[in-house]
Amino acid sequence: FHAKTMDLPYCRYHEALNNFYLRRIALVEGLEYAIRTSALRTYLQPQLNIQTGQLVGAEVLLRWQDPDFGWVSPAEFIPLAEERGLICRITQYVIRNVLQQLQIWREEGLEMCGRVGINISIRDLEQPQFVEELLEQVATSGCHPKQLELEITETAFMRDPEVALATLTKLHEAGFSLAIDDFGIGHSVLNYLKQIQADVLKIDISFTRELLTSAADKAIIQTIIATANIFGMKTLAEGVESAEQAQELRRLGCDYAQGYWYGEPQPIADFEANWLRDGRA
Ligand code: C2E
Ligand code: CA
Ligand code: CA
Ligand code: CA
Repeated sequence: FHAKTMDLPYCRYHEALNNFYLRRIALVEGLEYAIRTSALRTYLQPQLNIQTGQLVGAEVLLRWQDPDFGWVSPAEFIPLAEERGLICRITQYVIRNVLQQLQIWREEGLEMCGRVGINISIRDLEQPQFVEELLEQVATSGCHPKQLELEITETAFMRDPEVALATLTKLHEAGFSLAIDDFGIGHSVLNYLKQIQADVLKIDISFTRELLTSAADKAIIQTIIATANIFGMKTLAEGVESAEQAQELRRLGCDYAQGYWYGEPQPIADFEANWLRDGRA
């Protein structure tokens, strides 16, 4: 054996690993510097009403040109910032910039019709003072919460749904518009629907339960049915307990149902007697 031939792939592996970590360490340093020196640029991407072509808002997207690394994509530095505890400072940076810009436009008599969308991290929502401080900043700048749309990714709800929901509720009550970003790609099973060859989508009992009383639950059921249709799947509603629920589900185009209205879980012998012998089905 020649030691060298054995070492070579091993060395390469380490070098790549080192480079990866070295790059990250240098990027974090550069990012901190960029925040301090206001070197991050806030870009706006217009959002239009697809029917009328009218501007309805704009999303703020950060751009960063580092002196050493050149342009670094937010897809790289945002996750890094979240990991290394820099994201809240970045969010603050963006908020300050946006409020300043809205103030400038107002003073110049330029009307920004529509909202400005800001990407918010779960780390921001976990700051106990986030809502209060944001409200204060907005008020100080002479802006209104309804001018801002806060974009939160679906995955933000996964880590600590209670904290996220509580904070989002406060924000919404304060007048901010909320957007769920990246809907259906996070931990959501929607992403797998195209891969899983499932035949049936089961509508959870919690949605069926409130079908007749909650417009939101009805909308979710309609969405599930529409989704199932697109993927060529059937739908089955769980927990159907009344004729009214069954009728509404039929009206919505649901294929199947199970629940107390049709039959409780029963011993095999009973099932046989009730469903296989006397032909009640
Ligand atoms: P992007 O500008 O490269 O930003 C990538 C992601 O970085 C964003 O995805 C967002 O999660 C994060 N990000 C950017 N700025 C901020 C920020 O200020 N704060 C925080 N917390 N995160 C930030 P997102 O939100 O899904 O944004 C849409 C992405 O899609 C943007 O990428 C945008 O430039 C890009 N995009 C817009 N239109 C098109 C298009 O027609 N085609 C393609 N391929 N991409 C598009
Ligand atoms: Ca976004
Ligand atoms: Ca998105
Ligand atoms: Ca269930």
